[in-house]
Amino acid sequence: MTSPSTDDPPPKSALICPACDHTSPPDGDWQLQRRIRMTVYRCPCCGTNVVERPSTVARGFADQIATMTAPIRVLWSVYLRGINRLLGW
Ligand SMILES: [Zn+2]
Repeated sequence: MTSPSTDDPPPKSALICPACDHTSPPDGDWQLQRRIRMTVYRCPCCGTNVVERPSTVARGFADQIATMTAPIRVLWSVYLRGINRLLGW
């Protein structure tokens, strides 16, 4: 990575510091402060907390739950449809 060009617009996911307009992607030069549930992105230029995001561990766990329950939800809807057919609803 060289110094960012001012010609290129920042990518959509870029974070912008509201205090000093420092712009960098989420995996850029932000100072990350990891908390239990949140990761705080702090501006390296002025120290402003730019954004708080749920920590990746918590988000990964939620994704895991959704992945695990997806087949159950599919089976359940098939099951209900079968019962409806049996009962002639
Ligand atoms: Zn800043």
